[in-house]
Amino acid sequence: MERRIDFSRERQMLCGGCGCQFVVDLDWIDRWEQVEESCPGCGLTCEHGDAPRVTVDPDDPGLEDDKVATYFWYHTSTQPDWPTRNFDPAADLTPETRKMMGGDEHVAAWAARQGAKALHVGTYEAAVHNMLRRMHDQADRDSKFYLYRVHLKRSAVVREGWLIDPSNWLGDVVLDEVCPPGVNVARYLNYHEDPGGLSLALGRDAIAGVQRVAIPISDVWDDGWVGEAVATLESASDALIPVTGKLGRFTRPSSPRAGLGLELNATLAARLPANLRGQFTSAAAFSEREEPAQWARRVSGLYAMIADPACLLSELDGKEHRDV
Ligand SMILES: [Zn+2]
Repeated sequence: MERRIDFSRERQMLCGGCGCQFVVDLDWIDRWEQVEESCPGCGLTCEHGDAPRVTVDPDDPGLEDDKVATYFWYHTSTQPDWPTRNFDPAADLTPETRKMMGGDEHVAAWAARQGAKALHVGTYEAAVHNMLRRMHDQADRDSKFYLYRVHLKRSAVVREGWLIDPSNWLGDVVLDEVCPPGVNVARYLNYHEDPGGLSLALGRDAIAGVQRVAIPISDVWDDGWVGEAVATLESASDALIPVTGKLGRFTRPSSPRAGLGLELNATLAARLPANLRGQFTSAAAFSEREEPAQWARRVSGLYAMIADPACLLSELDGKEHRDV
């Protein structure tokens, strides 16, 4: 079952200082992060350790225990066969690396720890957010991504209530630490992706199957934007002009075409929810190497994932189910 997708929905904030809970929109959170807003109860700003943070909406459908396994959950990955069966994390280690890690025994222990990690799925919004974040932070801008729709087994046992985001600094969760024996799914409050939404840490045995689509799909959304963007870019020279002046030696030369690419990007980003603009701008950056048409189609596909998810979801509806 699909839940309502709304990147711009209001969020619940909970203050660690005074305990008050209040509802805000994403523009408020944006101002808050720039120390332009404070807790309406006690006046704490984001600079304080006990400051308000997003929390789970009491009306979140993910809180309904008996529905969790009936919902569609989502995951984005650069792996074409997620969740990989019989995944051997040590398979690609060179003899030198194995030696540096302390020999076979240490490698086996490391591989066992990797294998004990939970899988993560979340809302559609969280999956898109995750992809943009990776394109932005982890130099995955040019990587091939896949969106997975995850179907849980109806027999999956869901842990009661929800946890605060249990990831360590690597984003890893050890399954046994969040799922006691007999339980295979734990809900947690996601702070980083679709902030305030519920994501799941789960074992592979809780997943019935997945559907997959390569993203972004181009030509799904185009109200004439692609054509106009290509015409605009092609009207400008792509000859690199060295930057002169004081900052010249720190700045790479750029072309008039790249300047227009920046402007087109900024116009699209401005139409998006405040908490996605920065990452979108980075993921959709125009590069001098890219053909204008190729860039415009890629960027319109990225934009459509947020502005018009129905296009992508209907594409996904037609994809085969793969048993996990
Ligand atoms: Zn407060």
